[in-house]
Amino acid sequence: AGRWSLEGMTALVTGGTRGIGNAVVEELAALGAVVYTCSRKESELNDCLKKWEGLGLRVSGSVCDLSVREQRVDFIQKVSSAFDGKLNILINNVGTNIRKPTVDYSEEDYSFIMKTNFDAAFHICQLAHPLLKASGMGSIIFISSVAGVVAISSGVIYAATKAAMNQITKNLACEWAKDNIRVNSVSPWYIKTSLVNHLLEKENFLKSLVSRTPLNRVGEPEEVSSLVAFLCLPCASYITGQIISVDGGMTVNGFY
Ligand code: NDP
Repeated sequence: AGRWSLEGMTALVTGGTRGIGNAVVEELAALGAVVYTCSRKESELNDCLKKWEGLGLRVSGSVCDLSVREQRVDFIQKVSSAFDGKLNILINNVGTNIRKPTVDYSEEDYSFIMKTNFDAAFHICQLAHPLLKASGMGSIIFISSVAGVVAISSGVIYAATKAAMNQITKNLACEWAKDNIRVNSVSPWYIKTSLVNHLLEKENFLKSLVSRTPLNRVGEPEEVSSLVAFLCLPCASYITGQIISVDGGMTVNGFY
């Protein structure tokens, strides 16, 4: 494959039916990768798979709730048999949020956010490591958030899961470099997806976001998937352990 192609590569994208994950599936497949994905809703997943087949993209997938440990083990077994034990690209995209003042969080809220955002990504890395190593050229991307970089009002548990992802990006980049696995993190600011559309519909909320954003708007899923794809390409072969924000300039904005 060429420097700017993913031809011949295998990719796992968690949560590919909507939003950022959906854009990443399409971007990687369009660059030539064979992609495997998952979501919790069977009918939505089947609709996506049908659409991708119609577009000539090579994507398969299965239903899985990645917040459940046993389902993660089964899921990686399916990925392994689909790809003959070799995985080049792992995109840890699944994530969720519950927004509350810190003192209002219940134990259930805490564990739901932790297991969906951090436990799933960590455990999938452990499970996928032999497959990534076996491919000879591996790349892991965490879809983190600017909430793991600076303090924003997204909820403290969500922020902690994203900061944890950003930290293990650095640790795994060092630990797994010997296996020729690169590890990077992509940290978006507000992107128009089903996760946050209900917030973006509130005019005052949107105004306050945009006023902090030098580019003066929120982002599109395709503006995240392009960076994710770049980091997976052979031409990004010297980039590892990095946390890159896709934020219209928000995190570098002092007194805009
Ligand atoms: P969406 O909610 O729009 O999409 C999430 C996708 O993941 C869906 O396909 C969903 O399908 C799937 N999913 C969710 N939970 C699970 C689960 N437990 N098991 C399997 N699949 C699951 O989210 P976004 O695209 O907005 O977010 C993607 C990532 O980007 C998240 O990690 C989020 O934190 C991060 N992010 C998003 C930002 C934004 O503004 N949108 C900003 C910064 C970061 P289903 O529900 O059927 O399972």
